[in-house]
Amino acid sequence: MAEFSIIEQYFTRPFTQQDDIGIGDDSAILTPPTNQQLVICTDTLVAGRHFPLETSAHAVGWKSVAVNLSDIAAMGAKPHSILLALSLPNIDHDWLQGFSQGLFDCCDRFGVALIGGDTTQSAHLTITVTALGYIESGQAICRSGARAGDYIVVSGQVGDAAYGLQHLGGALQSRLDYPTPRCELGQTLKGLASSMIDVSDGLAQDLDHILKASNVGAKIFLDQLPLDPAVQALPNQQKWQYALAGGDDYELCFTISPQNYEKLLQQQLNVKITMIGLITQTTDLIFEHDGQNHPVQFHGYQHFA
Ligand code: ADP
Ligand code: MG
Repeated sequence: MAEFSIIEQYFTRPFTQQDDIGIGDDSAILTPPTNQQLVICTDTLVAGRHFPLETSAHAVGWKSVAVNLSDIAAMGAKPHSILLALSLPNIDHDWLQGFSQGLFDCCDRFGVALIGGDTTQSAHLTITVTALGYIESGQAICRSGARAGDYIVVSGQVGDAAYGLQHLGGALQSRLDYPTPRCELGQTLKGLASSMIDVSDGLAQDLDHILKASNVGAKIFLDQLPLDPAVQALPNQQKWQYALAGGDDYELCFTISPQNYEKLLQQQLNVKITMIGLITQTTDLIFEHDGQNHPVQFHGYQHFA
């Protein structure tokens, strides 16, 4: 009984798309637009592992949607809807109120509907969101398309969220708690970027996924990394650790030919982008500082490590 009243009280909103069905039946039903492909991803947040236990319920709600929309954005797709699988240790109405508000705030910001889910009890607070989006057939931007000579470009700033985690209560905590999925930029890059990934585990580790999938290497210009002034003020090794290995930024990292980069710069973008390196033929990742090769020690986040 409690399960149904939670769904009804906190998660049911009218879903008004002709012939489609949202919450309330055994499954949701969607009608995909013609000539588009469905893009789907899922991400789990575990309390104490993916966010500090004291994180506000509103932030947890926002972030559980945002991290998924970031994966949709990283394919160049337009987000459409989400499903929510919620495992709660107990029924805490204040928490549910804040969580659902944060979740719907993020949904509303990006034009996404909650169309279903599951609600269960378990010892640990665990939130799994599945996001669905659409993209014109064949237009998705994969990790495997980077080519030697492409520019490497990143949106926003990197290292903010990791710095925010180390300095809870400081100005950058909001970048940890309220990541902004780069949905508009991702869609703008359709037909322009050659490969793309979202930065969730640290820029170096995530870029490495592109390099492996594309069988290429990269040179990163350390002095061009877009950093917050608070991070920029740190000694080099420390700031590069935040920028290259800090997780949870949810910025987009993409590769693009120099010609397409020029075209991109003609467009009105709602987020800063910065060229930080070049794709190279040899399959290694090297760093340059002051015009010289400069090895950096760092490690990105890994589960089970
Ligand atoms: P079933 O028993 O058939 O699995 P449920 O009782 O779990 O169905 O869910 C009833 C309806 O509520 C379904 O449409 C389901 O998608 C939706 N739902 C359940 N939990 C959530 C949730 N946390 N958020 C959104 N929708 C939910
Ligand atoms: Mg169920």
